This record gives sequence, structure tokens and C-alpha cells, in this order.
Amino acid sequence: MVAHVVPSIHTTSDPTYQTALHQYDRAVSYLNLPDGLVEFMKWPRRELTVNFPVRLDSGETQIFTGFRVHHNTVLGPSKGGIRYSTHVNLDEVRALAMWMSWKCALVNLPYGGAKGGVIVDPRAHSLMELSNLTRRFTSELIILIGPKIDIPAPDMGTNAQTMAWMMDTYSMTVGYSVPAVVTGKPINIGGSAGREEATGRGVIVCMLEALRQQNVIKSPKDISVIVQGFGNVGSNAAQRAYDLGFKVVAVSDISGGYYNKNGLNIRDMRDYLTKSPTKSLEGYRGAEKVTNAELLELPCDVLIPAALEGQLTGENASRVRAKLIVEGANGPTMPEADDIFRDRGIMVVPDILANAGGVTVSYFEWVQGLQEFFWDEDEVYRRLERILIRAFDDVTATAERYNVDLRTAAQITAINRVAQATLTRGFYP
Ligand code: NAD
Repeated sequence: MVAHVVPSIHTTSDPTYQTALHQYDRAVSYLNLPDGLVEFMKWPRRELTVNFPVRLDSGETQIFTGFRVHHNTVLGPSKGGIRYSTHVNLDEVRALAMWMSWKCALVNLPYGGAKGGVIVDPRAHSLMELSNLTRRFTSELIILIGPKIDIPAPDMGTNAQTMAWMMDTYSMTVGYSVPAVVTGKPINIGGSAGREEATGRGVIVCMLEALRQQNVIKSPKDISVIVQGFGNVGSNAAQRAYDLGFKVVAVSDISGGYYNKNGLNIRDMRDYLTKSPTKSLEGYRGAEKVTNAELLELPCDVLIPAALEGQLTGENASRVRAKLIVEGANGPTMPEADDIFRDRGIMVVPDILANAGGVTVSYFEWVQGLQEFFWDEDEVYRRLERILIRAFDDVTATAERYNVDLRTAAQITAINRVAQATLTRGFYP
């Protein structure tokens, strides 16, 4: 195979995409793969940018921009979330789609990787405006999505309601109900038990595995945990840690960080959030207020970044006091921070392993929907745990074999699976 000349579109100044490409280059350097195959797996298969109008409550019309990227579809239909955020851009979506390819391969799901997003602040819009936006965006994506083509799910700024609107719009277009076109739906229209909690729960499964591997024998109440982000992933991870008796000493969201060295009452904080008019922890009493930057540097045993990309950097990594980092978010650690953590002996359980619980239960939801046969929560969690622990073992075995950190090991494992499947299929024509 002959490597092609990389088009200029593939040079990027976006730090998230730079991180994803850097991680890829590092991982493939350990694999003896043909150059053409390495190039093929590096770049997105197809991308769609859409500009579309949405009628606002005021009667005015606003134009929004959205994206959907299919990174790799060798292992099956593509899978990945839809993000609503003002920070969304095409390069970020490319990075997230690439990570989805590796994540699905790592946990052995029959999926490729995709991601989508719309440049919008969902907190600034009414339910009706969000419904209008989601429905029009779905209809713009209809040429790319489908239960056997590409299956969206929630991500930052979207939730089960967003998926219900997407599923309904798709179904209205084709003329019959197609629950399997999205995952992360409400249970009453074909969602899976446990999907809402799955990503956060999976983060804690990985945390427990990592503590076991580090031979930590302290009881949970003596192990302090900090969680950045209190949305789907962060609040469910915090809740699960709290329920298991760990001391969650700090959490944060867009409104800042909340710290109590004796431990926070996570249940109380979640109740507060559901009633909050600002949809944030703003005004929560019962904790000392800290900034999001300070939160990352507080003393703790385990740090769970579960908000945004690029939080742990070459600048702050040397001040992080956690002994273990479990990545709930996608891409929270920059490559320079990875190097510092490796030198300091801080274990990082990488995103594509630590937050794979979400896509795993999304897969369960898709399978249950296609079979129209639904499992109870215990069954979902039992299967989830088995898959994540097996993936964790695969990653640690690869880390030992190549003498690399867990992130590089996870990527080597996943990329090699996609590579071998590609070689087995061969290139068309
Ligand atoms: P979410 O929208 O439910 O929650 C995001 C949280 O981050 C909110 O609490 C928000 O207030 C907070 N936040 C936003 N800006 C912040 C800032 N500057 N500092 C601190 N906190 C801030 O999103 P989510 O679904 O929980 O996703 C969080 C991360 O997890 C993303 O990286 C996402 O890609 C990743 N992820 C999500 C899932 C899933 O199933 N939802 C699965 C895998 C990975």
C-alpha cells in the first residue's frame, strides 16, 4: 500500500483533534502496519456540515450549524453521541468520532465510530426551541443515520428527551417507529434499564479495578474522590462512588467547584440540582466554594474529570495531587500532562476504557430494541461489568507486553482490532 499525500484539511489547530491524532500516531508506532492502512484509519470516512433554520419562541428564525462525522465503519454501523455546546467545531467532532472508533473496538462492540454536534448553548433555549432544533437537525442528518448505518446517542448538552425527539423525527419520516435509530432513549419508548447511569457506573467499575491493581487495601470511606462535572457522567459517577461508601470530597459544574474535606452528600446535591432554576449547583450550601481550576489540584486519592476536554495540561499536571485519574470525559488529559503523570507514577485510566460503559449499554439498548426483548437492570449491570473488566484486563496485558501506559495500551489494543478487521475484509474494490 502507498501512503497518500495528506490534504491540507487534515492539518488542525484544534487542541482536542491534535491530542487525538498525537495519541493515534504514538499507538500505531508500536504496531507493524502498512502505511496505507495507518493513513486509512487516521482520517474520517465521511463528514457532513449542515446549516439550518430554527423558529424561536419570539417568532424569529435563527440559523444553526451542526456536524456529523463517521470516522471508521469497518466493524459495523457507526455509533456516537450528539453534543450541544457553544464550543462544538468540526475538528472537535472529528476527534470525538475517532475516539468512538477505538472505544467500540476496545470493548468489542460491532460498531464503528461517529460523533455529531450543534453549536448551541442548550441552557439558553426553551424546551420548544430545543425540540425544533433537534427535529430539524435530525432531518438534515437523515441521509447519514439509521439503525444499520449510524446510531446517535446523548452526549454533553443532550439527554434522553433529545433522543426521543430524534427517534420520533426519524420515525415520522420513514412512516413507522424505529426505536433502534438512537440509543439513550427514555425507557417508555424502548430505552434500556441502566442506560442513564451506565457511563458513570462504568467509570466506577474501572476505578475499582484500578484500585485493585494498585493494591489499595484501604476501606472506601478512607479513599477520597473528586469529580469534575456534575452532568450525566459526573453526577452518576459521584453517586455510585458515594453509594459504595467512598468519600466524595469535591464536585464541580459550570458554576464552579464545591469542596468538603469530610465528604459531600451527593444525593442532596443531586436533589438540589433537579430543583435549581439555573440548572446548576449555583448557590449550593454545605460546601466550600472553589474554582474549577482549584478543584483539580485539591488533595485526593482519585480524580475523575467528567466535564470537558483539555482540563489536565502541561501547566497544571505537576500540581495534581491525585494518585489515580479515571477519565469520565473524553480527552480531558493533554499529551504533555500524560507524560508528566507517567513520570510521577500517577495511573490514568483512559477515556476510551473508563467511559465505555455508556456505549456498552447503548449497544445493549440497540440489541434489545432490535430483538424487542428487554432485560432488567441487574442483567444490564452484570453484562456491563463483565465487558468492562475484560477490556481492563486486555489493556493491562497490552501495557505489560509493550511496556507502555494504559492510554497507549488501550489505543494499541483497539486500533489493532480495527486494523486486523480491515485487513480481513480487504479494500474495496
Ligand atoms: P452533561 O452535559 O450531562 O454534563 C456536563 C457537565 O459538565 C455539567 O455538569 C456542566 O455544568 C459541566 N461543565 C461544563 N463546563 C464546565 C467547566 N468549564 N468546568 C466544569 N464543569 C463544567 O455531559 P455528559 O454527558 O456528562 O458528558 C461529560 C463528558 O463525558 C463529555 O466529555 C462527554 O463526551 C463524555 N461522555 C459522555 C457519555 C454519556 O453517556 N453521556 C459517554 C461517554 C463519554
